[in-house]
Amino acid sequence: MVRLILANETWATAQVTILANPQVEVCGLLVGHFDRDYLVERFAFCANLSTASDEFILAPRDEEAVRNRLHYGEAILGVFHSHLGEPTPSAADIYNMRFHDLVWLIAGNSASQSSSELVCAAYVIASNNEVRDVEVVIV
Ligand SMILES: [Zn+2]
Repeated sequence: MVRLILANETWATAQVTILANPQVEVCGLLVGHFDRDYLVERFAFCANLSTASDEFILAPRDEEAVRNRLHYGEAILGVFHSHLGEPTPSAADIYNMRFHDLVWLIAGNSASQSSSELVCAAYVIASNNEVRDVEVVIV
Protein backbone atom coordinates (compact mmCIF):
# COMPACT_ATOMS: atom_id res chain seq x y z
CA MET A 1 0.00 0.00 0.00
CA VAL A 2 1.29 3.41 -0.95
CA ARG A 3 2.05 5.79 1.90
CA LEU A 4 2.53 9.52 2.27
CA ILE A 5 5.66 10.38 4.23
CA LEU A 6 5.81 13.75 5.89
CA ALA A 7 8.54 15.21 8.09
CA ASN A 8 7.23 16.33 11.46
CA GLU A 9 8.85 19.75 10.95
CA THR A 10 7.16 20.22 7.55
CA TRP A 11 3.79 19.29 9.00
CA ALA A 12 4.29 21.55 12.02
CA THR A 13 5.12 24.51 9.75
CA ALA A 14 2.05 23.87 7.59
CA GLN A 15 -0.16 23.66 10.68
CA VAL A 16 0.92 27.15 11.74
CA THR A 17 -0.35 28.64 8.47
CA ILE A 18 -3.56 26.60 8.52
CA LEU A 19 -4.35 27.48 12.14
CA ALA A 20 -3.70 31.18 11.43
CA ASN A 21 -6.56 31.11 8.87
CA PRO A 22 -9.39 29.36 10.70
CA GLN A 23 -12.25 30.88 8.67
CA VAL A 24 -11.21 29.57 5.27
CA GLU A 25 -9.96 26.41 3.72
CA VAL A 26 -6.21 26.82 3.34
CA CYS A 27 -5.02 25.13 0.16
CA GLY A 28 -2.12 24.46 -2.13
CA LEU A 29 0.04 21.82 -3.71
CA LEU A 30 2.20 19.13 -2.15
CA VAL A 31 5.70 19.16 -3.59
CA GLY A 32 8.22 16.37 -3.31
CA HIS A 33 9.03 13.19 -5.11
CA PHE A 34 7.55 9.78 -5.56
CA ASP A 35 9.60 6.72 -4.76
CA ARG A 36 7.11 3.93 -4.05
CA ASP A 37 5.66 6.33 -1.47
CA TYR A 38 4.71 9.99 -1.73
CA LEU A 39 7.67 11.78 -0.13
CA VAL A 40 6.43 15.27 0.69
CA GLU A 41 9.14 17.93 0.80
CA ARG A 42 6.98 21.00 1.24
CA PHE A 43 3.53 22.51 1.25
CA ALA A 44 3.29 25.15 -1.49
CA PHE A 45 0.44 27.39 -0.40
CA CYS A 46 -1.87 28.91 -3.01
CA ALA A 47 -4.57 31.52 -2.55
CA ASN A 48 -8.09 30.15 -2.16
CA LEU A 49 -10.36 32.01 -4.59
CA SER A 50 -13.54 30.70 -2.99
CA THR A 51 -15.54 32.98 -0.75
CA ALA A 52 -17.26 30.05 0.96
CA SER A 53 -15.85 28.57 4.14
CA ASP A 54 -16.43 25.00 3.02
CA GLU A 55 -14.72 24.81 -0.34
CA PHE A 56 -11.53 25.84 -2.04
CA ILE A 57 -10.48 26.98 -5.49
CA LEU A 58 -6.73 27.01 -6.06
CA ALA A 59 -5.67 30.30 -7.61
CA PRO A 60 -4.44 29.30 -11.11
CA ARG A 61 -1.72 31.94 -11.03
CA ASP A 62 -0.29 30.50 -7.79
CA GLU A 63 -0.56 26.95 -9.10
CA GLU A 64 1.37 27.95 -12.19
CA ALA A 65 4.01 29.71 -10.10
CA VAL A 66 4.55 26.54 -8.05
CA ARG A 67 4.90 24.46 -11.22
CA ASN A 68 7.33 26.95 -12.73
CA ARG A 69 9.52 27.05 -9.65
CA LEU A 70 9.98 23.36 -8.94
CA HIS A 71 13.51 22.50 -7.95
CA TYR A 72 15.44 19.79 -9.72
CA GLY A 73 13.90 16.38 -8.97
CA GLU A 74 10.74 17.80 -7.47
CA ALA A 75 7.25 17.02 -8.69
CA ILE A 76 3.72 18.01 -7.80
CA LEU A 77 2.55 15.09 -5.68
CA GLY A 78 -0.83 16.27 -4.71
CA VAL A 79 -3.32 18.81 -3.54
CA PHE A 80 -3.86 19.78 0.08
CA HIS A 81 -6.53 21.78 1.81
CA SER A 82 -7.91 22.26 5.26
CA HIS A 83 -11.36 21.59 6.63
CA LEU A 84 -12.95 23.36 9.52
CA GLY A 85 -14.08 19.92 10.67
CA GLU A 86 -13.06 16.34 10.09
CA PRO A 87 -10.47 15.63 7.38
CA THR A 88 -12.77 13.49 5.29
CA PRO A 89 -13.38 14.33 1.62
CA SER A 90 -16.59 16.20 0.84
CA ALA A 91 -18.74 15.33 -2.18
CA ALA A 92 -17.09 18.24 -4.03
CA ASP A 93 -13.63 16.94 -3.06
CA ILE A 94 -14.44 13.49 -4.44
CA TYR A 95 -15.80 15.02 -7.62
CA ASN A 96 -12.62 17.06 -8.09
CA MET A 97 -10.34 14.15 -7.25
CA ARG A 98 -11.51 12.52 -10.46
CA PHE A 99 -9.86 15.31 -12.46
CA HIS A 100 -6.60 15.44 -10.52
CA ASP A 101 -4.79 12.13 -10.56
CA LEU A 102 -2.85 13.05 -7.46
CA VAL A 103 -2.84 12.33 -3.77
CA TRP A 104 -5.15 14.54 -1.75
CA LEU A 105 -4.21 15.55 1.77
CA ILE A 106 -6.85 17.06 4.03
CA ALA A 107 -6.02 18.70 7.33
CA GLY A 108 -8.78 19.12 9.83
CA ASN A 109 -9.93 19.02 13.38
CA SER A 110 -10.90 15.74 14.82
CA ALA A 111 -13.60 15.79 17.46
CA SER A 112 -11.32 13.72 19.66
CA GLN A 113 -8.49 16.25 19.63
CA SER A 114 -7.91 19.75 20.90
CA SER A 115 -8.63 22.52 18.41
CA SER A 116 -5.01 23.70 18.46
CA GLU A 117 -3.88 20.48 16.91
CA LEU A 118 -4.73 19.32 13.43
CA VAL A 119 -4.95 15.85 12.06
CA CYS A 120 -4.34 14.99 8.45
CA ALA A 121 -5.55 12.25 6.19
CA ALA A 122 -4.70 11.41 2.61
CA TYR A 123 -6.66 9.86 -0.22
CA VAL A 124 -6.41 8.79 -3.82
CA ILE A 125 -9.22 7.93 -6.16
CA ALA A 126 -9.19 4.69 -8.10
CA SER A 127 -10.29 4.34 -11.72
CA ASN A 128 -13.65 3.00 -10.51
CA ASN A 129 -14.12 6.28 -8.56
CA GLU A 130 -13.55 4.50 -5.27
CA VAL A 131 -11.81 6.72 -2.71
CA ARG A 132 -8.91 4.94 -1.05
CA ASP A 133 -7.09 5.91 2.12
CA VAL A 134 -3.39 6.58 1.90
CA GLU A 135 -1.51 5.97 5.12
CA VAL A 136 0.11 9.17 6.40
CA VAL A 137 3.40 8.60 8.18
CA ILE A 138 4.81 11.56 10.07
CA VAL A 139 8.50 11.01 10.74
ZN1 LIG B 1 -12.58 19.43 1.28
